[in-house]
Amino acid sequence: MNNEVKAATLNATTIQTADMSLVSILGAAALGLALLFAAGFAQASVMHDTAHDQRHAMAFPCH
Ligand SMILES: [Zn+2]
Repeated sequence: MNNEVKAATLNATTIQTADMSLVSILGAAALGLALLFAAGFAQASVMHDTAHDQRHAMAFPCH
């Protein structure tokens, strides 16, 4: 493998890694914002019931 091919391969790998990092960052940001807005605008009873259902789903004894 000559140096030109090595450089091209390295550049392609670097760009692909950067693309995946950007996708990961944007995905995490979108998920975080969705959770933030869902929690911020949900009714208190809805939040309580959701937390309660989650507790039951985790087999945590509550009542
Ligand atoms: Zn319960």
